[in-house]
Amino acid sequence: MKIVPSIEKESPDEIRRFQESKVRELLMHVAQHSPYYQKIFSATGVDVSAFKGLDDLSLFPTTSKDEFHNHNWEFLAVPSSRIVEYTSTSGTLGNPVTIALTENDLQRLAYNECISFTCADGTPDDLFQLMLTLDRQFMAGMAYYEGIRKLGAGLIRVGPGLPSMQWDIIHRLKPTALVAVPSFLIKLIEYAHAQGINLAASSVKKVICIGEALRTSDLQLNILGTRIKDAWDVALYGTYASTEMQTAFTECEHGRGGHHHPELIYVEILDDAGEPVPMGTPGEITITTLGVEGMPLLRYKTGDIAVAYQDSCRCGRNTLRLGPVLGRKQQMIKLKGTTVYPPGVFDALNEVGDVIDYVVEVVSGRLGTDELRLHLLVKESAQQATIERLKEVFKARLRVAPTIMFVTQAEIDKLQLIGKSRKPKRFIDSRS
Ligand SMILES: [Zn+2]
Repeated sequence: MKIVPSIEKESPDEIRRFQESKVRELLMHVAQHSPYYQKIFSATGVDVSAFKGLDDLSLFPTTSKDEFHNHNWEFLAVPSSRIVEYTSTSGTLGNPVTIALTENDLQRLAYNECISFTCADGTPDDLFQLMLTLDRQFMAGMAYYEGIRKLGAGLIRVGPGLPSMQWDIIHRLKPTALVAVPSFLIKLIEYAHAQGINLAASSVKKVICIGEALRTSDLQLNILGTRIKDAWDVALYGTYASTEMQTAFTECEHGRGGHHHPELIYVEILDDAGEPVPMGTPGEITITTLGVEGMPLLRYKTGDIAVAYQDSCRCGRNTLRLGPVLGRKQQMIKLKGTTVYPPGVFDALNEVGDVIDYVVEVVSGRLGTDELRLHLLVKESAQQATIERLKEVFKARLRVAPTIMFVTQAEIDKLQLIGKSRKPKRFIDSRS
């Protein structure tokens, strides 16, 4: 049984009409219950009656990450007695924000993952092995768990354990699907190769890839995706989500970007001036939550840059699709004649063999452009060849020659731990 909401196969006009009424409901909800939006609406002199259709949404102000962070509890639109779950953003950039959910929000979240996993060809016959954090106020872990339960499939909550433990459980319980970070799949593959495990004979047929992009902006598998696929012939499905959105965009079998679910969220792709970009152009993902009670967001600017696609998909859905996140808006790097985000530089580095580990630093150059400084861990015997190969790859992909600095393991470790984040950093912004 496939659960595909009927609205997803309606015409784009029908989807738009449907979203118009959902956005109107959201506006009424925040106007009546959200102290933050009540304050903003009165300060800017807009009110819900100005909303006659989706074109009028631009009359309403956008919400920035800073505003959400600085006024976190003013966004709460229900009495605190109705909160059943407190989740938190990971706080990779700055301090975490708390997102409070009501019982209905949890139900909505489960439904969201249920239709997302269905989109990724999940069925009640599947057995999913979850290789990710399920506690620490992490919304996604809980969302996957509840969504898979709603789908009626089986679950193994392994968490982010070592490859040896993951393989042990794969052998014993024979999951058909994994939910994992793609770079962790590389570790699973390396372990399998070292231990003589036959990947082709494993029970695993598909992987929902979380947290990292699998594709380039033209929707082809990136280096990471290609390395996985070449070693292990499993179906890969990318997914994009964030705690603030409480919604996921997950790929179908055709791998043409993450599908939008119109019942749950409204999406705009905006340029720096806050205007919609033409379809197919990168812009900032800006979302309006639909059906969220606890902390609804209006025109929230996620800071994530991506391209949206509107042509209908071979799976029959006519909803918008989001390409991979190209990077964070504030991390845009302006090189001579081109712009790139850190993941684009990482992808170029991953193409060069022999680079064991790296940190990319961006510094201010002359004439308003930025310059790249690469801190690389490379075996001494391979350093000269790496310089040649890097020059080639960077010239072809980014049209620049980066400054290359070979460093030791200890120096890499030190660079990766700069700042407050608990995750090792691969990007350092040293621009003035
Ligand atoms: Zn599709």
